[in-house]
Amino acid sequence: MIPLTLAEVATAVGGSTHDIPDSAVRVTGPVVRDSREVVPGALFVAFAGARADGHDFAAGAVADGAVAVLATRPVGVPAIVVDDVQEALGRLARHVIEQLGATVIGLTGSAGKTSTKDLLAQLLQRLAPTVWTPGSLNNEIGLPLTALSADRETRHLVLEMGARGIGHIRYLTGLTPPRIGLVLNVGSAHIGEFGGREQIAQAKGELVEALPAEAEGGIAVLNADDPLVSAMRTRTKAKVVTFGEAPEADVRAENVTLNDRGQAVFTLQTPSGCADVTLRLYGEHHVSNALAAAAVASELGMPAGEIATALCAADSLSHWRMEVTELPDGVTVVNDAYNANPESMKAALRTLAAMGGPAQARGGRTWAVLGAMAELGERSLAEHDAVGRLAVRLNVSKLVAVGGTEAAWLQMGAYNEGSWGEESVHVSDAEAAIDLLRTQVRPGDIVLVKASRSVGLESVALALIEGA
Ligand code: ATP
Ligand code: MG
Repeated sequence: MIPLTLAEVATAVGGSTHDIPDSAVRVTGPVVRDSREVVPGALFVAFAGARADGHDFAAGAVADGAVAVLATRPVGVPAIVVDDVQEALGRLARHVIEQLGATVIGLTGSAGKTSTKDLLAQLLQRLAPTVWTPGSLNNEIGLPLTALSADRETRHLVLEMGARGIGHIRYLTGLTPPRIGLVLNVGSAHIGEFGGREQIAQAKGELVEALPAEAEGGIAVLNADDPLVSAMRTRTKAKVVTFGEAPEADVRAENVTLNDRGQAVFTLQTPSGCADVTLRLYGEHHVSNALAAAAVASELGMPAGEIATALCAADSLSHWRMEVTELPDGVTVVNDAYNANPESMKAALRTLAAMGGPAQARGGRTWAVLGAMAELGERSLAEHDAVGRLAVRLNVSKLVAVGGTEAAWLQMGAYNEGSWGEESVHVSDAEAAIDLLRTQVRPGDIVLVKASRSVGLESVALALIEGA
């Protein structure tokens, strides 16, 4: 981070100083909320959570080298006291961003934020020092913490922005105002909470509303293949750049196919030229993510050939997203248990089918081990039913539906679509799925594991991997 004196921090957050002998002492970073991450020079932010109160760890944090604590009350060690630490953290991030010469890039969407952020970070890192959201820390706390980790060398700050309701993205853009805003898609993730797709589009579009005008360098990067996203062009004063497979898109993919490992192969077209790409990531849905990242990189001056080289080399930097492990016994495990929504479930099934074609021709089988997609509200039954049906249509060999009611709907979809009996099994929990798979999976089989985060289905993938 940029070194800041305690006096400067106090002014930036509008706080009062307590037990600070010398306010010229500098915070050199990092800014942390977990006292176990404190190193000398850190600023410890004391959040009062439901289970633990950060204020109880303040003395320990200072003993471990924290220069001071950001807190809501004096704690007997050097502290900057504010009414609301979350708001103060946001103010501090904004203060630091105003001093950085970095281009801030905000990205949002229903699915693929983390995947795209990881791709984009790997592209921009080739141009100049880049800082990006670790994992999926895309909320009002993770965003400022990421911004605060930037320093004077940082040229690009790539920030994942999540929204669970109207006004959330507007709040985030107020903390770390982006010059470039990227909207990936409007799907059905969290649709139960939002109320409908229109509301989701309303919420995600707040990102492009917050951009500066074109004359000031503002750029909105929009998905030309998603009508609710391309319609956002009327909500911004920024320059609009589009990506997608649509012929009118500024950055396009042509001749898209999946190789027999399930990786997308395509020709990338940007305003600077074209180049061939084979992604290392698995699944056709990453074409859209790769194009989105390419569109931003292209606007920042990266030529098509260099973008293509970088895309071919880019890996997922985050766990459990289509993570493919080929086990020594000839079984392939595809761990996509990080999260699930209808779009990503269908994309994962299509990838399984593409990977499974050659395997099935050799006598191997494809297994879809699937659990609930959370937060779908009244659409839940129909969406689970549709996934079960798609598994049949894609000729998946076996469906293992894990969990309660939603799993029953998955199995029912498969039964109704293809009169599936033995091909689909409903088990109550991950343990039962592990027992079943351990006895039935054979060399040559491919096992996809996927459900919403709350189901915790990664235990199934990890058990297969560790048991091999
Ligand atoms: P979260 O809201 O949980 O942070 P996210 O938007 O960051 O999610 P990722 O973590 O990148 O998304 O991906 C989540 C899931 O969606 C993964 O299963 C991934 O394979 C799938 N996915 C990624 N990109 C797309 C896409 N463009 N369309 C559909 N599914 C996608
Ligand atoms: Mg994410």
